[in-house]
Amino acid sequence: MTAASTAQALSPEELDRPIRSAMPDLARQSAALKRLGITTPREAIFHLPFRYDDFSELRKLGDLAPDEKQSAVVRIGTVKIEPGFGRRPQRVIAQLTDDSGSAEAVWFGRRFVERRLTTGDEVVISGKVTMRGWRPQFTSPEFTPVGRESVHTARVVPVYPLAGGLTQKRVRELLARILERALPALDDPLTDAERDRLPRLADALGTVHFPEQAADVDAALDRLAFDELLALQLTLARARRARSGQKAPRIAVDAAELGSLLGALPFELTGDQRTAVNEVLADLATSRPMRRLLQGDVGSGKTAVAAIALAATVRGGWQGALMAPTEILARQHHAGLAPLLDALGVRAEFLSGSLGAARRRDVHEKLAAGMADVVIGTHAVISDGVELPRLGLAVVDEQHRFGVAQRAALQAKAGERDPHVLALTATPIPRTLALTFYGDLAISSIRELPPGRQPVRTEIRDRSALPKIQQFLADEAREGRQSFVVVPLVAESAALEAASAEAEAERLRDALPALRIGIVHGQQKAELRDGTMARFAAGELDVLVATTVIEVGIDIPNASVILIEDAERFGLAQLHQLRGRVGRGTQRSYCILLSDATDERSRERLEVLRGSNDGFVIAEADLALRGAGNLLGTRQAGLPPLRVASLFEPRHIRLAWAAKDLADRLLETDPTLSGRPALARAQAEFVAREEGDDADGN
Ligand code: ADP
Ligand code: MG
Repeated sequence: MTAASTAQALSPEELDRPIRSAMPDLARQSAALKRLGITTPREAIFHLPFRYDDFSELRKLGDLAPDEKQSAVVRIGTVKIEPGFGRRPQRVIAQLTDDSGSAEAVWFGRRFVERRLTTGDEVVISGKVTMRGWRPQFTSPEFTPVGRESVHTARVVPVYPLAGGLTQKRVRELLARILERALPALDDPLTDAERDRLPRLADALGTVHFPEQAADVDAALDRLAFDELLALQLTLARARRARSGQKAPRIAVDAAELGSLLGALPFELTGDQRTAVNEVLADLATSRPMRRLLQGDVGSGKTAVAAIALAATVRGGWQGALMAPTEILARQHHAGLAPLLDALGVRAEFLSGSLGAARRRDVHEKLAAGMADVVIGTHAVISDGVELPRLGLAVVDEQHRFGVAQRAALQAKAGERDPHVLALTATPIPRTLALTFYGDLAISSIRELPPGRQPVRTEIRDRSALPKIQQFLADEAREGRQSFVVVPLVAESAALEAASAEAEAERLRDALPALRIGIVHGQQKAELRDGTMARFAAGELDVLVATTVIEVGIDIPNASVILIEDAERFGLAQLHQLRGRVGRGTQRSYCILLSDATDERSRERLEVLRGSNDGFVIAEADLALRGAGNLLGTRQAGLPPLRVASLFEPRHIRLAWAAKDLADRLLETDPTLSGRPALARAQAEFVAREEGDDADGN
């Protein structure tokens, strides 16, 4: 950062100008920054690392430990290039020495490295060390000449989400240059009294990007977590205030009518379903708009509860809508709901972007004229041209895919009445957390599964079992059953994740040439992805290799196996969701968790999954073990994702309460935050966050 230390601080206004004009010296880098979603200095400030590598301690080469990331000051000896052949990439190998011993460094296929390596130079080298016999080897390390202060080596190094061909090194350099000039211009949105013992915002951000030592990071993150939680609590409190003035239709069903609805279903509701129905109907009967989350594992029968609620709405003289995040899911819902609604005497129309224009217009007209009772569909339900003048109840499936903006659009369809909203989710939130984070969001839970379900059998295996597992997939295919193969989660980059899916599909095709193998990942165009999913659903593929894009509730009863690679990298809740892709038919189903992790924590987490098929047990265990299950986030409540604050961090739960108090106090005296523009802006930015802002980009 030496070159930049004389650079001038930006003005506060420049924080929100395009990089090109605020920092003309970076104009040529602005395209690269844009790929990271960074167009202004402020966005750069908030492009946070998602973990750190601690290279702060310098080792002697003689003291290097295997399988750890380490740093050392070394002299470069001979540098050699080994040409690649066949599948093997070219390698650059450098000999390294210090006064304690020697080592080597290897880079794969990276010719440009060689130009920066000069025999005789002294450098600080940082990277993962493995033992080649007795000789330590650095694999693809970073290095900088000794004496130059560096943002890459010999310190705690931040690791950022990447995009589009950028390297960690390049991102770090760019951010260091921007931060140096941007942070001094950043005003603290909180007064000293309000932030209490938390650090100032600019200091916290400086530390989070480039900590002096690893121990400083937590306190800095606490400050960022507090600001995020305050934005969340302000959002909730403002919504609460706004809603207290809103009126929803009162939809009352008497006992006889409810009896006839229940009697018309092809099965008897479980006790939990009955309770959920009662809770929903009690909400519908008041003019206060319902905001209820219905949570229950995949297959627990949430759809039946939604069907009763929709039928009650229609009997009361109002319209209902159900929205699902994808075309396939919307069609599945239509297929599942239509017969139930039919039995209940309600006609449901289907609406999606894929319908022909004439058909769409026809549905629009029926809805606008009140001729259609219920509409089931994708985002098309809230598109222009749709009017639902008597919308009384909106059911939103897997609500985390719907942003705040979409829900606002839905409400705007509904005339002067505010519709009741019932959200369905298969990822439960422990109740205590829900209260802390969502305040007045009401929750109904279905734990009891309908009778006659076969639990999915879960096994943990390491990579050595892979040939056997592949054989198993082949056997299942021969029996006419289908398998999912989920490739490892790559937090750094969706592109890397997609590449690993492609590579895995290639390996499987080599190993199992007789099988029909498809592939879906987040980098594909939606049509290609949906097309492959549809072929899998139609039984035209035996194996579907996928990234976590398959997580949301696609229903393929014929799928009997899900193989999840590097399972320890996923959150428990996410693994449970993935497992829910199988066990939906009558055949025995299997979930194979592939993991080479040997540490106790990973084993313990995976054992939880082997031991239970109950999403609620898993959510509680996830909480207790504080895994990185970020799926248990704000998304179930249809709120923007939290990036820093964690529901698993007891410190953050305390911060959430403090944030709630502060939010209430602030709005009491200043309901629109007109006197606190920085806070108003932070809250607006929080609300504008969407799913796609996450690092994983799925
Ligand atoms: P979810 O939406 O929670 O994933 P569904 O509502 O789609 O679950 O239900 C899964 C399957 O179980 C459906 O085929 C549904 O008809 C059936 N089902 C739901 N409730 C019951 C019940 N009480 N008894 C028997 N079968 C049920
Ligand atoms: Mg369902």
